[in-house]
Amino acid sequence: MNLFLPKYPSLLKLLYPKRISRIQDENAIYLTFDDGPIPEITPWVLDLLDDYSAKATFFCIGENVVKNPNIFQSILKNGHAVGNHTYNHLNGWKSSKAVYTQNTEKTQQAFKDNHYHPETRFFRPPYGRIKNSQASALVESGYKIVMWDVISGDYDHNLSAEKCYQNVIENAASGSTIVFHDSEKAFKNLREVLPRVLRYYSEKGFTFKSLTDVPLEGQ
Ligand SMILES: [Zn+2]
Repeated sequence: MNLFLPKYPSLLKLLYPKRISRIQDENAIYLTFDDGPIPEITPWVLDLLDDYSAKATFFCIGENVVKNPNIFQSILKNGHAVGNHTYNHLNGWKSSKAVYTQNTEKTQQAFKDNHYHPETRFFRPPYGRIKNSQASALVESGYKIVMWDVISGDYDHNLSAEKCYQNVIENAASGSTIVFHDSEKAFKNLREVLPRVLRYYSEKGFTFKSLTDVPLEGQ
């Protein structure tokens, strides 16, 4: 589990220099929410983001999009970006390239069926686990792979909300891509941490952007 704490991203960047983690952007924070859409939780996040005029990126699980199409529409209607997080939250290390890419395409089809035709196909590997062969296949099909540089640890029940909050504010800076989860597992911490993070960076004059708000060329 330590692999996913904030010390890891520098190593990730070293291993995967072509993948997007921190973005060159002054006074902007890129909030990302993985694993939704989920009833009650995603709408709560959307309302809170609206209170701060914040935009974010939601890395959706395909089967959750199919189960919760109305919430998926709310994400889009509120002007957020959406990315692909596979259809069944696959672990790339345990999946063949064919299974992994098909599972990802199935989510892209769910997006299409729900009237979402993105200009840019953002993809985030569940658990951050993806083989180079899978990543190359996705990049060849036009996906942009988005990692992160700060992970809140909101899903980790061994971490207090206070510790999650400290994880974020001690590690995030201009252009940071921060991982949260709009999932039932993470909600215990998310409900306390997200309002504080929004307040903290708003007071410092930061804006919250979605990944479609910046040109990613050269990133
Ligand atoms: Zn996930």
